[in-house]
Amino acid sequence: MNIHLKPGREKSLLRRHPWVFASAIQPPDEVIASGSTVDLLAHGGHFLARASYSPHSQIRARVWTFDDEPVDREFFRRKIKSAIALRDTAHMTHVTDSYRLIHGESDGIPGIVVDRYNDVLVLQSTTAGSDFWKESIADLLIEETGIAAIYERSDVDVRELEGLQPINGILRGDLSSFIFPIHEHNLKFKVNIASGHKTGFYLDQRENRLRAGELAKDRDMLNCFCYTGGFSINALANGAKSVVSVDSSADALKLLEENIALNDLPAQKHTSIEGDVFQLLRKFRDEARSFDMIILDPPKFAPTATHAEKASRAYKDINLLAFKLLRPGGILITFSCSGGVDASLFQKIVASAALDAGVDATIIEHLSQGNDHPVSLHFPEGAYLKGLVCVKG
Ligand code: SAH
Repeated sequence: MNIHLKPGREKSLLRRHPWVFASAIQPPDEVIASGSTVDLLAHGGHFLARASYSPHSQIRARVWTFDDEPVDREFFRRKIKSAIALRDTAHMTHVTDSYRLIHGESDGIPGIVVDRYNDVLVLQSTTAGSDFWKESIADLLIEETGIAAIYERSDVDVRELEGLQPINGILRGDLSSFIFPIHEHNLKFKVNIASGHKTGFYLDQRENRLRAGELAKDRDMLNCFCYTGGFSINALANGAKSVVSVDSSADALKLLEENIALNDLPAQKHTSIEGDVFQLLRKFRDEARSFDMIILDPPKFAPTATHAEKASRAYKDINLLAFKLLRPGGILITFSCSGGVDASLFQKIVASAALDAGVDATIIEHLSQGNDHPVSLHFPEGAYLKGLVCVKG
């Protein structure tokens, strides 16, 4: 099946960006099955790319290949092999048994995320095209990794935009438990692959948790949006004086407490608080509480640029309060995982938070997602996590 682009709309494809929006194509004459493979042709008729077709989504087509080659099982085998090779190049297995094996567009498989948790794979399919190939991809993953169990976590809202139902359950093999420990650097974390956030763990923060742990030695730390305690566990393991961890999820805090025990860490140095970070930071301000180090790792406030303004206010609010609670010389490690807020906007927001808090601060490090979350040069949207390590004057 051929899809013709409107005149002049081939530019982003020529730059190898993998998305084609509905507004860029001529409406097809026939009904095209959801997820099936189509050829994208320029207005003049020449071949541009081979892609999956999503009839319900504004992102109407996602490119599988810019070459005139078959899109079949062997095509996906090559993509999976390259994704595995990239993690070998990054020496992932030296530091952890759990990492992202396939990162969607950046690994050439739009719509597919696969995270490896020890000897289980967790697959997430988010588009019509990735659903179309899901069973083949599952078989190939087993063949290429030698791992027998795959759990599916395709229970994310974005599937609605593609006209797809949520799915959560075993896709291949047997699993005796959905909650089990994984290893990251020299620490252990229990993950819940069936109902944890994302596919169970925020794998993208691995190196940043390690770095924050190093900086936390002898400090009183406040870890906001702590989830199952990634930053808290690293801080306690590295000699933090005390750690307060805050999250709105009781289930996450329960796993955090279990992770402290699992790593034989001093529970008496740790306090969990179930609550809303926005309110708690205000309460701490009113009580004149102070800390030597604060982590802000909030959920995505701006999935796309259209939410950027509201998100900016939320980021500014928590960063301003954090600057106030920090002691002089204290460290703020602040993140945004919002696709709609780029690194330069995020830095401006943090700068204006410091200004309004009446403090001076210096950036000593820029942080980003781990290298198991690679970024295709042609798909800058793949770089979503940005972090700043700031020292208060
Ligand atoms: N730093 C964590 C990941 C944080 S994800 C790690 O390294 O694993 C964001 C967390 O924020 C989630 O656990 C979610 O439950 C929590 N959250 C979202 N909104 C919140 C709010 N308003 N107050 C407190 N926690 C919130």
